[in-house]
Amino acid sequence: MRHWIGLFIIIFSSVVFGEDKTTLYDFRYWSAPDHTRIVIDKEEDTLFNIISYDDFVIISFDDAEVLSETFSNIFFKDDRIQKVRIKREKSTIKLIVHINRKFNVKHFTLNPNTKYKHHRLVVDVIDSDIKVTKKISKIDYPPSLRNQQTILIDAGHGGEDSGAVGRNKSLEKNVNLAIAKKLVDIINKNKDFNAVLSRGGDYYVPLTKRLTIAQKQKVSMFISIHADSVESISAKGASVYILSEKGNNSKLARQLEESQNVVDQFGGVEAVIDNDQFLKSILSDYSRKDKEKQSFQLAQEIISQLNKVGPIHKKIPQKANFVVLKSPSIPSVLVETAFISNPTQEKRLTNKSQQQKIAQSIYQGIVNFYEQLD
Ligand SMILES: [Zn+2]
Repeated sequence: MRHWIGLFIIIFSSVVFGEDKTTLYDFRYWSAPDHTRIVIDKEEDTLFNIISYDDFVIISFDDAEVLSETFSNIFFKDDRIQKVRIKREKSTIKLIVHINRKFNVKHFTLNPNTKYKHHRLVVDVIDSDIKVTKKISKIDYPPSLRNQQTILIDAGHGGEDSGAVGRNKSLEKNVNLAIAKKLVDIINKNKDFNAVLSRGGDYYVPLTKRLTIAQKQKVSMFISIHADSVESISAKGASVYILSEKGNNSKLARQLEESQNVVDQFGGVEAVIDNDQFLKSILSDYSRKDKEKQSFQLAQEIISQLNKVGPIHKKIPQKANFVVLKSPSIPSVLVETAFISNPTQEKRLTNKSQQQKIAQSIYQGIVNFYEQLD
């Protein structure tokens, strides 16, 4: 009996001691053309404070202790952020972020989800110098020549949002970007087309912003690249989705819709702010039948090309209510290139020559679509 009491006291005292401090678990950052996103894994009730100065930001945590080794050696390979210093003042931990250009800071917190078990503080350091931002966006999106069809290639997910994760730990976001970049290169060899990427690196672009890019660049086609994932490891093959306002009745498609649309949680508050008016115009527009018919034809052309280089999961285009497909009046499809949850397909998705074959097939589908329009 006495042993039990002793054990109880030890557990009790360690709980009380543990409550004195809040733990910072990990630190990551993602560099985008116009901002750098800093993410800190913390506890739910961690007290923090963010103060901006001319050329640095101080993020401080009260009564905090640092768990991860990451914090002792923060290495930055980022154009915007020179360095991050850690300073301990009594029980406060301060991250001092030195920034080499004019900036604004926004922050928000995110709850744990299936991919991240900790609460997160997200701090965005955003360029405030418009000249710099303009210069960068010019590089990212070259102006199209007359008579060129501009095609927006959207690499799904990015940054904090990894997308699906394969059995051998390949991340969907990386596979999507690799295929998207190859596709853009292939398309741009054809003088009739001008392809642009919605993201060129490993950072998150909110779903609504992907649509805004489509509008600003006056694109005539929207293609989103993804990789599929299910519980079972045997599911295989490509599928192509088009938008349907009713969504899809199959269980798989409903799960997909949820996972694709839910990723905007990663964007936090910013996802909603920039284009209310544009979103409204999409919502009033997306039932346009001619657009749905064109998207269906484009999807069919892409499927028949993908069929030549690998297995097909769904032979006819699937309908789903994806936010990212809601671009007004242009053919828009979402390509699930293969199942990253299937180890054999995961291998294929990460293989450069297979990625090239997939990109080549999507390109041929696009060309055939335009040819049958003439
Ligand atoms: Zn995806």
